[in-house]
Amino acid sequence: MSDLRRIGVVGAGQMGRGITHVCALAGLDVVLADVNAEVLARSLETIDANLGRQVARGRIREQDKDAALARIATATDFARFADCDMVIEAATEKEDVKRGVFKQLVPRLKPDALIATNTSSISITRLASATDRPGKFIGMHFMNPAPAMSLVELIRGIATDEDTFTATRDLAVKLGKTPVAAEDYPAFIVNRILLPMINEAVYTLYEGVGTVEAIDTAMKLGANHPMGPLELADFIGLDTALSVMQVLYEGLADSKYRPCPLLVKYVEAGWLGRKTDRGFYDYRGDTPVPTR
Ligand code: NAD
Repeated sequence: MSDLRRIGVVGAGQMGRGITHVCALAGLDVVLADVNAEVLARSLETIDANLGRQVARGRIREQDKDAALARIATATDFARFADCDMVIEAATEKEDVKRGVFKQLVPRLKPDALIATNTSSISITRLASATDRPGKFIGMHFMNPAPAMSLVELIRGIATDEDTFTATRDLAVKLGKTPVAAEDYPAFIVNRILLPMINEAVYTLYEGVGTVEAIDTAMKLGANHPMGPLELADFIGLDTALSVMQVLYEGLADSKYRPCPLLVKYVEAGWLGRKTDRGFYDYRGDTPVPTR
């Protein structure tokens, strides 16, 4: 089981395309599926462009790029997943969407195929129970952007068996990533620590302790962070940041995780960060301008 050669990826959004890129470059055959054919076409263009950037920087050779692209197939259903050794689910972060994916996917898979989910916040144990194989189900949480970030969090559900964990860990290493094991509690490790820091930065802004610029400069120069927390929040997406805080607040029932009202207000305004051109900064001009 340890030799996973053919991977299915569900969801061709930001994460699914990055995971596909990384798997194909590591020599694995990948079938990438999405319900949206237009998204699928765009995802291939993104992967092509991102591999091209790696060639331009001298990280990989032109023939590595061509070979990686040749290993990727796309599909709008799961018919081609029958001979996959593992499926990595990276569909929309909504539990009913993921449950729907597993319901359609499971009858297509061979009995010993593993299923991994890239969820950032949903319980692995609960998602596993929506499949016919909780022992072969695991959380494999890539960071964004997957080709650039070297960490993968591995999360066992209550039923995940040891062979599944070992095979997934070996796969992460084969992809050039460093795996870290996390228990199945809300937001795992990275987001459990990172998002409360970002939320605290928003409180610091809300209470008028500093401006957007002062807060980001302070954390860049004072804590040696490569990006300020508000700039990072815009990169992650303020809706995503809010939803992780809600998962922590509800999942751990501790008021220290309460989302900052100013973060809620930005999300209500539809100012979600880079993806909507406005968040703590306004990105519509040549250089980002603080919005407070
Ligand atoms: P996204 O919205 O960019 O992409 C999700 C894709 O799933 C969309 O293209 C959508 O069409 C597709 N989809 C929806 N229903 C589907 C179905 N039934 N079958 C097939 N495809 C379907 O989302 P994303 O940011 O790539 O996030 C995907 C997953 O990765 C989520 O679980 C998220 O929590 C996790 N994640 C996200 C980040 C991040 O920073 N964005 C980081 C780590 C993990």
